[in-house]
Amino acid sequence: MSETNYLDGNAAAGSLSELFAVDLTAAVARCNGCGHTAVFAESRLYVDAPGMVARCPGCESVLLRVVKTPNDTYLDLRGLTYLRVPSS
Ligand SMILES: [Zn+2]
Repeated sequence: MSETNYLDGNAAAGSLSELFAVDLTAAVARCNGCGHTAVFAESRLYVDAPGMVARCPGCESVLLRVVKTPNDTYLDLRGLTYLRVPSS
């Protein structure tokens, strides 16, 4: 996997804001694979995959996938132990 073909997690803000009313890029995410815990914006975002894939900066495991079809949006969060959203 190339080290230069991803964006940072901030690039997911538009797509995620369509699903959630709050900006989840500021949420703290814990990786199911290695336990790395950081704000989602620090994840590695691949937008040239089918859909959008966010990977852990610690172990490269998939944290989140978003795939849009003509009728639906699929959100796969199984790579996250949790997302901790700061209270406003
Ligand atoms: Zn990890």
